[in-house]
Amino acid sequence: MGLLEGKTAIITGGSKGIGRAIATKYAQEGANVAFTYLSSEEKALALEGELASFGIKAKAYKSDASQYEAAEQLVKDVMEEFGSFDILINNAGITKDGLLMRMSEEQWDQVIEVNLKSSFNLTKSALRPLMKQRAGSIINISSIVGVRGNAGQANYAASKAGMIGFTKSVALELGSRGVRSNAIAPGFIATEMTEKLDEKMIKEWEDGIPLKRVGQVEDVANAAVFFGSDMSSYVTGQVLLVDGGMHT
Ligand code: NAD
Repeated sequence: MGLLEGKTAIITGGSKGIGRAIATKYAQEGANVAFTYLSSEEKALALEGELASFGIKAKAYKSDASQYEAAEQLVKDVMEEFGSFDILINNAGITKDGLLMRMSEEQWDQVIEVNLKSSFNLTKSALRPLMKQRAGSIINISSIVGVRGNAGQANYAASKAGMIGFTKSVALELGSRGVRSNAIAPGFIATEMTEKLDEKMIKEWEDGIPLKRVGQVEDVANAAVFFGSDMSSYVTGQVLLVDGGMHT
């Protein structure tokens, strides 16, 4: 029996990268999966089919996580379609990098809205049903950059550090209702985003990682299974670094 048998998860930004890996691992572990996408309907529908082949219920929703009303509508739609849900994974995220000297107000606002405000939008919308069933797990995908900062990513670092403060506050507010809130802070994970980097740069990164390799999306998905499952039933308000030991 899978670790997530009988549970239903909402995953934002599920059609590629880390979100897709989490959706796949969740389906393998027996969870029903509702995931959102922004533009690539074809990819999303293909994934819906792949996930369903594990014998679970899967549905893709076109929904912009940075919009509050869209988040409310999504939770409503998922409740109608699935009856209930147990896990919320705030994974949608973007980067708009640049040194602060050159960073525009728009670059700042966009990253804060998509990465940080989306967590508020979804979590606030999901609160009532989770509190009512007195059980639930909220998982925020932060970043090592939110823990230690990064030159050229002041907006991204602030959004990801904000997610950590948000995670801990939600854990304090909702613990008595049986709802847990944790964050995962991935280090350098191989995705489409990192494919663009040249080999020399990746080698330099690897040299600085104690486990001597960049992370795979499955490494992050495994941590998400832990936080979503009853294996972590006494764990809340935590930030788990999945970074090969980079930040120790
Ligand atoms: P990705 O670009 O492959 O995936 C991001 C997903 O979010 C995409 O599916 C995209 O469509 C979706 N998305 C973007 N804006 C959205 C919006 N407004 N509403 C709904 N969906 C939206 O990137 P990834 O590497 O898979 O990143 C996933 C998460 O992990 C992000 O929050 C990212 O910040 C975080 N992260 C990634 C790394 C890494 O090394 N790849 C490291 C640390 C943290």
